[in-house]
Amino acid sequence: MRYVWATGSHQGRVRGRNEDAVYPESSGASDTAVLVGVADGMGGAIAGNVASATALHAATEDEPDSAVTIVERIVAGNDELLGEIERNPDLRGMGTTLTLGLFRPDGTLELGHVGDSRAYLIRSDELELLTTDHTVVAELVAMGHLDPGDADRHPQRHLLTRALGLGPVLVDQETVALAHGDRVLICSDGLTSMLSDEQIAEIATGDDVEPTVWALVEAANTAGGVDNISVAIVDAHDS
Ligand code: MG
Repeated sequence: MRYVWATGSHQGRVRGRNEDAVYPESSGASDTAVLVGVADGMGGAIAGNVASATALHAATEDEPDSAVTIVERIVAGNDELLGEIERNPDLRGMGTTLTLGLFRPDGTLELGHVGDSRAYLIRSDELELLTTDHTVVAELVAMGHLDPGDADRHPQRHLLTRALGLGPVLVDQETVALAHGDRVLICSDGLTSMLSDEQIAEIATGDDVEPTVWALVEAANTAGGVDNISVAIVDAHDS
């Protein structure tokens, strides 16, 4: 499989700085293994931007074709954060989401995920959510205590039940067999809290990766841009 990707990150229209991080920071194409990730830092005054950059850096440090598993990568990101906090207790309270995809040459996508950044598969113009949000609201919906239609307006919709930097972490893992023409979207909640899945599907299908990334960022900003917005898109092509 040959992978073509683009990433973009924008601070949005309300926040004073961008606490998201994306990897890689530049677009490209490859027929070897490719790592792509989005991290959404939290901690406001206590350096959410340090949390996202530190975790993503540690998780992507080993080459994509190394034997390090996707879960080991995310645990390494968590360990790095916990070590940083131990050395500098002023940073206690910082944390981050991390959604990381390893795209293998044979078409296998290995996903690792903690938090409320998301991965979607776009196949035949249909959007399929691949990750589960680790939020209070998503758990209430899963237990049948909250109507999915009310989740978007719930006051606790941003409260995470899992994040890196808080202690030992449980990582969700999934493997997807990609086919020619598939597109994978990884994004922070600054995109998904501003746009519905229908709106995302409409913009995210059709065009090349780079203009699509920026069209999504622009649409989230037009819809309010209340949070930092990060988008990574990877297209799979027969090589
Ligand atoms: Mg966010």
